[in-house]
Amino acid sequence: MAAAGCEVAHATGRERPTGVRLVAVELRVLGKSPAWQDAGGACSGYHVEAEGARVLLDCGSGVLGKLRAVVDYADVDAVVVSHLHADHILDLVPYACALVYAPRHQPVPVDGWPGTESPPRPPLYAPPGARDAFRRLCTATGMREQHIETGFMLEEYDPGLPLQVGPFEVAFQPVPHFLPTQAVEFAADGRRLTYSADSAPSDDLCAFARDTDLLLIEATLPRPEREGPRGHLTPGEAGDHGRRAGAGRLVLTHISDELDAEWARREAERSFGGPVEIAHEGAVYTV
Ligand SMILES: [Zn+2]
Ligand SMILES: [Zn+2]
Repeated sequence: MAAAGCEVAHATGRERPTGVRLVAVELRVLGKSPAWQDAGGACSGYHVEAEGARVLLDCGSGVLGKLRAVVDYADVDAVVVSHLHADHILDLVPYACALVYAPRHQPVPVDGWPGTESPPRPPLYAPPGARDAFRRLCTATGMREQHIETGFMLEEYDPGLPLQVGPFEVAFQPVPHFLPTQAVEFAADGRRLTYSADSAPSDDLCAFARDTDLLLIEATLPRPEREGPRGHLTPGEAGDHGRRAGAGRLVLTHISDELDAEWARREAERSFGGPVEIAHEGAVYTV
């Protein structure tokens, strides 16, 4: 559905007018479920790749298995976490197990890593407060307190400062949710991929995503929350955010398989004013 008069440019080309090839940023959906998995699915997790650099964006329940079906988990260059809700972090526990205890690393030194043949320990960029939250999570689930920090080089990022991860500049925008949460943008050679994370309606999100090539935006709710603070978007609200941002492409995510996908698409397209895609596991988007 391409609405007449729509100001949105649906950029799909990957070459400059001169024919010089640009860096392609590839987004692969590993898990798109909301806080509970779809049948056979996984919670939030996205593999972002450019120039051979691999970043895992969020690591919710079930994501490690989906990641392993695509790449060797030891080859991931960095993990970036949007916020500390369970559906965005829980698979960091088994991921750290793999990085430390997998057969390729045996025998594991009894005092833990770093040992003489240390595993890769990819950087894990997580929000302020993550170190304490991860330690409590690990302790509560019978792991060593520093289990996640043993598998990863944990760094609490400053949401006000962008990171350089391989070819990507990774920028953050705080968005309204039930706990501190950042929308995340990956930019490489002028190509931009923007992820809303979990967010209530937000003018800041629209501004952050202004003219992005692809906006991956949550569309969790069949209707706005009946009471209390807002924390998520409906598909219609997600489409409206995409229109206000002038996003080139709009992909809805964090959406349950118990929600009618065609209804969600129609709602979002009506407010976006152009075609909208619904994320599904295994989907690959290139900008
Ligand atoms: Zn979530
Ligand atoms: Zn959340």
